Amino acid sequence: MSFSNLGLSDKVLAAVAATGYTTPTPIQEQAIPHVLARRDVLGIAQTGTGKTAAFVLPMLTILEKGRARARMPRTLILEPTRELAAQVKENFDRYGAGQKLNVALLIGGVSFGDQDTKLTRGVDVLIATPGRLLDHTERGGLLLTGVELLVIDEADRMLDMGFIPDIERICKLVPFTRQTLFFTATMPPEIRRVTETFLHNPQKVEVSRPATTAVTVTQLQVPGGREAHQKREVLRKLLREAKDLKNAIIFCNRKRDVAILHKSLQKHGFSVCALHGDMDQSARMAALDQFRKGELPLLVASDVAARGLDIPEVSHVFNFDVPHHSDDYVHRIGRTGRAGRTGTAISIVSPADQKSITAIEKLIGQSIPKAEGDYEVAASADEDSHERRPRDGARRSRGKAPREREPREIRETRPSAAAPRPAQAATPRPAPSPRNDPARTEQPRHEPRRPRRDHDNEPADHSHLPAFLLRPVRAPLP
Ligand code: AMP
Repeated sequence: MSFSNLGLSDKVLAAVAATGYTTPTPIQEQAIPHVLARRDVLGIAQTGTGKTAAFVLPMLTILEKGRARARMPRTLILEPTRELAAQVKENFDRYGAGQKLNVALLIGGVSFGDQDTKLTRGVDVLIATPGRLLDHTERGGLLLTGVELLVIDEADRMLDMGFIPDIERICKLVPFTRQTLFFTATMPPEIRRVTETFLHNPQKVEVSRPATTAVTVTQLQVPGGREAHQKREVLRKLLREAKDLKNAIIFCNRKRDVAILHKSLQKHGFSVCALHGDMDQSARMAALDQFRKGELPLLVASDVAARGLDIPEVSHVFNFDVPHHSDDYVHRIGRTGRAGRTGTAISIVSPADQKSITAIEKLIGQSIPKAEGDYEVAASADEDSHERRPRDGARRSRGKAPREREPREIRETRPSAAAPRPAQAATPRPAPSPRNDPARTEQPRHEPRRPRRDHDNEPADHSHLPAFLLRPVRAPLP
C-alpha cells in the first residue's frame, strides 16, 4: 500500500513525499480513507503508531476547499496537554507547508490576547486543551458552531486528567452534524460511554492491542535500594555504563523528585534538563527543544512527558521510580523503540516497588528480566542530600571528589563488564485492560482523577508542605 492509494490530495501527497515517508502505517492505511469519506472514526491506537498523521493528512485534504470565518474555526482538535497540542501543530506546519491554512493553538500558559487576535482573523484548524478552549468560549471570543470536524485525541489520557466533563461540554457546543475522530489507547467503560454518546455510527480502527509493549524495546530491571540516594547512585552507574546510550528520558513519579534528580544529575556533571507540570510553558518548551536537538541528552520527567510526546530516536528510558499504574509503564517505555527502532527501558526497583512490578508484568504479559551486574548500593549517608540538608551550603560546596564527577556529556558507548546485558523482551501476549487489572485497584491512585483546567497537566504536589500551610486563608478586605 502506498500513500497515493488513500485518496489524499496532490498537495498533501507532495508534503508526505517531502518528509520521506513512503508507506502508510497501519493506522494511517485504515483510518485515512474513512476520514476522507467523512465517516466518524474510533481509532484505538497508541502514540508511536503514526496516528497524528492519520488525522492530519486527511484533514489537510478536506480543508483545501472552503474558508475560515472570524471566531468560527472550521475544525477543532482537542489534546490533553500543551505539549501534545504543540506537537500536532508541528504536524500541520510540516504537512501543510504548501497550503495557506490558519492553524491556531489555544493552550494554557500563553497570552489570552494573542490567542484572541488569531481567532479574530479566522482559523481553519484550532488545536486546544479543553480548559483554555472553554475559557475562550465563555468569554464569547469563540463560536464552535462552524466546526465541521472534531478530533478528540488521547481520550483515555483526558479521562485520567479529569477532562471528560469538559469534553462533554465541548461536544455539545459543536454542531450535531459534525464529523468526529476519536483516538484512545485503551477503552475503559467511561470512554466507551463517551464514544456511544458522541460518535455517530463510527468506523472502528484498531492497530494494536492496548497495553502491549513494542517488541523492539528491551526491558530490564535493576535493584535500587530503599533510599532515594541509593537509587540516584544506581542511576548514575546505569547512565555511565549503558550500551549505545544516545539520549534518555528518566521518569520520576513526583514533580518534586524530578526537580531533586535533575539537580543531582547536574551536580554530578550530566547534561540534563527537566520537564514537569510546575514549570511554566516557555521553560517546558525550552527543555523539550534542548532535548530534541540533543543539546541536553538527558531529560528527567514526570508522567506529563510519558504520553504522546513525539521525540524520535530516544535510545533509553529509565524508570527512576516504578510507576504506580501499570499502564503508565507502557506509555513511558513507549517513548523508546518508536517507529520500528530499537530501544532500552530500565526500571530501578526498590523493595517497595515489587508489587507494582508484579502488576506491570501481569499487564504486559511478560516478565521483566533482571539486569546482570552488581547494582547494590550501600545505604550510607546521602552525598546529594538535597532533601535532607537543604541549607547545608558549606557541606555542599565542598562537592564530590573529582574522580566521581562525570564529564558534561554522557559518555559514548563503553563496553563494561558490569554493564547490563539486556535480554530481548519476549513477544507480548494479550493482556487484560489496565483498568480491569485487579492489581491496579490495590494501588492508591498517585494522580487522582480530578476536574482540572489546563493550567497544568499535573496536580500540585503539596505532600512536602505542613498541613497548616495548606489551610485556606481569607484575604483581608481592602
Ligand atoms: P505518532 O504516533 O503520530 O506520534 O507518530 C510517531 C512517529 O512516526 C512520528 O515521528 C512520525 O513522524 C512518524 N511517522 C508517521 N507516519 C509515518 C510513516 N508513514 N512512515 C514512517 N514514520 C511515520
